[in-house]
Amino acid sequence: MTVKTFNEFSNYINGGWVPSNTKESVTNRNPADLDDVVGSVQKSSAEDLEKAVAAASSAKRNWRKLSGAERGNYLYKAADIIESRKEDIAECMTREMGKTLPEAKGETMRGAAILRYFAGEGMRKTGDVIPSTDKDALMFTNRAPLGVVGVITPWNFPVAIPVWKTAPALIYGNTVVLKPATEAAVTCAKIFECFEEAGFPAGVVNMVTGSGSVIGQGLADHPEVGGITFTGSNSVGKQIGQSALARGAKYQLEMGGKNPVIVTEDADLDQAVDATISGGLRSTGQKCTATSRVIVQKDVYEAFKDKLVAKVKEINTGNGLNEGVWMGPSVSENQLSTVLSYIETGKEEGGKVLCGGEKLSGGEYDNGYFVAPTVFDGIESNMTIAQEEIFGPVLALMQVDTIEEAIETANDVEYGLSASIFTTNVQKMLSFIDDMEAGLVRINAESAGVELQAPFGGMKQSSSHSREQGEAAKEFFTDIKTVLVK
Ligand code: NAD
Repeated sequence: MTVKTFNEFSNYINGGWVPSNTKESVTNRNPADLDDVVGSVQKSSAEDLEKAVAAASSAKRNWRKLSGAERGNYLYKAADIIESRKEDIAECMTREMGKTLPEAKGETMRGAAILRYFAGEGMRKTGDVIPSTDKDALMFTNRAPLGVVGVITPWNFPVAIPVWKTAPALIYGNTVVLKPATEAAVTCAKIFECFEEAGFPAGVVNMVTGSGSVIGQGLADHPEVGGITFTGSNSVGKQIGQSALARGAKYQLEMGGKNPVIVTEDADLDQAVDATISGGLRSTGQKCTATSRVIVQKDVYEAFKDKLVAKVKEINTGNGLNEGVWMGPSVSENQLSTVLSYIETGKEEGGKVLCGGEKLSGGEYDNGYFVAPTVFDGIESNMTIAQEEIFGPVLALMQVDTIEEAIETANDVEYGLSASIFTTNVQKMLSFIDDMEAGLVRINAESAGVELQAPFGGMKQSSSHSREQGEAAKEFFTDIKTVLVK
């Protein structure tokens, strides 16, 4: 049996661990076992944030003066340290926010891989030579860092998202002040332990924990912060965007999704069922790219529905630390009650629950925030659960006649993050690629996930239309300078 350690963290500011001047902390418990106390982080004040921004600001000049390769070496080192501690970090993640241990290990290794990818970017080109009409002039573009970058992250990927924002910020010469979501801040602090050991110069990477309204909003408003990168809900994102815009700072917002999967009459139904379950219910449906609407053509609707429900009923829900558990709990009491209330709304508006539809109870379930994986039948596009992001293990089945109707239904939401189609018909694939309003368009693949070297982001209200990851990350974390030499 593993020993469940208690992890107590201060803020990480200017290369050291500094307690908040409030002397207050927040304690996190395992949402699958409320007796398991995972750790605590600081409930910081505006003064704590001020210290972190000041440290990042005074470190930025020396950091940007290093070569990309030199900066990259710190990232390579951090990646190796994260990899060497993957068991500990993953266990902490599972205990703190509930995803299963294999998923948590995968995410931790992804964090290391992202760092290595961006370490390599330090050796790649940052500009282009542009022919001048003046034969005696040399004209080219170069990239300048934004200065101090504020990073605000959600709880659902407490390693991958902080890393996929911090790594490009650093490699392009910015310094960072990060505010993680409190629900999973202990896990994120473990990544900062790895940054500490990697030996980044003091002030280059900083972490301040605390409330969104004080620390998050404080970062968005801070005149020394040249760019804000945010992942989280739409309501918070829009507010941050407005604050950054008001003072001329750059901002990047990655927000919610209401991701569809279309199953056509010519699809491989077994493949579509497996991908719908994996894309919709892994991580308890708490992914921005999770499948939530399942739009199925009439001729295969009943067959698909029967196969789907039979498999969903077999899902083993429990504490993600235990072997054989496929789905963990909701992250918090709050999140659980949001999911349950959407389920009630779905019933009231005429949806029929085919399986799940309730809080799990009895035995270990009484000591955590468990909701049964749920499938709704008879959902129409105008119903609340077909429109709003639930962020829970709830699939809404919708029946359509034609591929045109399927795509129209898929587009009939304010979000545009990820979308999948299952079909063997090339014309349907092409229509889907062309007409689907989503940043991630996936053919015969689940809606959740994208490889780390590819651009990631959404259309419509899912994003501020910038992209994270891969080469595309450079666009946000730098400004272009056009240079003329004569
Ligand atoms: P959230 O918006 O509640 O919180 C995100 C972060 O913002 C947290 O660190 C929080 O403390 C902070 N925050 C809260 N109020 C703030 C304020 N007034 N000012 C500044 N910061 C504030 O989101 P969450 O519940 O942590 O995460 C779930 C949401 O994140 C879902 O909507 C999900 O779709 C989205 N998400 C999107 C992506 C993506 O890449 N598009 C990825 C993961 C999660």
